[in-house]
Amino acid sequence: MATFDFDLFVIGGGSGGVRAARMAAQRGARVALAEAGALGGTCVNVGCIPKKLYSYAAGYAESFEEAAGYGWRLPQAPRFDWAHLKAQRAREIARLNGAYAALLKNSGVQLVTGWAQLADPHTVTVDGRRYTAKNLLVATGGTPFVPEIPGREHAVTSDDMFDLDPFPKRLLVVGGGYIACEFASIFNGLGARVTQLQRSAHLLTGFDDDVRQFLAHEMGKAGVDVRLNVEAASIARGADGLVVTLARGQQVEADTVLFATGRVPNTRELGLEAVGVALGEHGAIAVDADYRSSVPSIYAVGDVCTRVPLTPVALAEAMVVVDALFGEGRRRLDYEYIPTAVFTHPNIGTCGYTETDARAKFGEVTVFSSEFKSLRHTLSGRSERTFMKLVVEKATDRVVGLHMVGAEAGEIVQGFAVAMRAGATKAIFDGTVGIHPTAAEEFVTMREPMPG
Ligand code: NDP
Repeated sequence: MATFDFDLFVIGGGSGGVRAARMAAQRGARVALAEAGALGGTCVNVGCIPKKLYSYAAGYAESFEEAAGYGWRLPQAPRFDWAHLKAQRAREIARLNGAYAALLKNSGVQLVTGWAQLADPHTVTVDGRRYTAKNLLVATGGTPFVPEIPGREHAVTSDDMFDLDPFPKRLLVVGGGYIACEFASIFNGLGARVTQLQRSAHLLTGFDDDVRQFLAHEMGKAGVDVRLNVEAASIARGADGLVVTLARGQQVEADTVLFATGRVPNTRELGLEAVGVALGEHGAIAVDADYRSSVPSIYAVGDVCTRVPLTPVALAEAMVVVDALFGEGRRRLDYEYIPTAVFTHPNIGTCGYTETDARAKFGEVTVFSSEFKSLRHTLSGRSERTFMKLVVEKATDRVVGLHMVGAEAGEIVQGFAVAMRAGATKAIFDGTVGIHPTAAEEFVTMREPMPG
């Protein structure tokens, strides 16, 4: 029988890779993990965590504005210190990098620093060193995609946004997805003049249509110049910053141009094709229900196989792999009713089906929706409104879609996602006592369906 250096060799120290390595080691496996950059991957270094910290920073601008309505008199106009925020963020991220290293070490995982490549189905090379393992897990994540337009070298991606120097007075964001909307909102809050270009008729393809329209309206009210059905054709450096020429000929000037036009799996220069790992759409690694690739000893989780590119999904996928290799092999991840949030101002929180998708899947549905000014804004002076929507399958009364645009929507929808996974019906929602006065109580007090 062949003997290997390790039971599992993980390539990539992001959310999925670190989780799999730790959990496998805790089950007694001999595990190594290779990472060429900072531990924690996109989420910790240039994604979820720093993005949410900057979203909090932007939120203070709203709080200062609201405070006067509640009787607070500020001694002077607040001034934003970008350099301080960047330094604070860098300190916290460095702490998290260290925490990830400690987690791996304490669970007995051997950390290998450097770029890993597959040499054969059981061998990895890292800077000339060779390691063999019974199984390999590729968890190399994804990277921003920037379309080929003239002058694209002048654009930045989300990876660069956290350390911009200087702070951009004028920011142009290309794209209408999660990342584009979040950065447009955040930099608008921090004081930049933000223009956002989306090539199609609405922001946030894939979200419920009412949510998409409501968010675009709220972002517009907050100051983001959202332009729909617009494409950037080229970028050039002008006398006063960057000049972006649109497909229809108009020009927009900006200090920074962010392309947030999707992400692609990191599958290059890993030696995947050479060992026979089949790639699917957009170069993602094709896997089965256990996340096993076309090469039986090689697995893949997270954004590199892009079923749903979210950190908690990568973590859950990692747990399935660990169970398949070192446990009972019964664990599966159910991709239905995965809740998600977009940390725009206001937030979006959503779980389950959009109205359109629910009609296509379940046939007849009943829709409940509500739009209101939250209690907070009765005195704050801000005109922000909140939107909530429930989509109910008529035949079973099950709530199959729950959508919200409003403060703390991510926090609120997480709890409702539990109920939805448990199959809660509208009758159960109706029989649940609200918490007063909150915005969330509206989800259990919507009685009148929308006509149609
Ligand atoms: P998305 O796929 O969400 O959005 C891409 C956007 O770019 C869309 O608006 C798309 O337009 C547009 N686009 C694509 N190609 C082009 C092009 N060639 N020219 C102009 N516009 C283009 O990608 P993101 O990069 O925003 O995010 C990637 C993933 O990361 C998300 O799907 C999400 O799963 C995850 N993520 C999650 C977050 C969270 O949980 N809060 C935060 C950030 C990211 P169109 O709509 O017309 O296709």
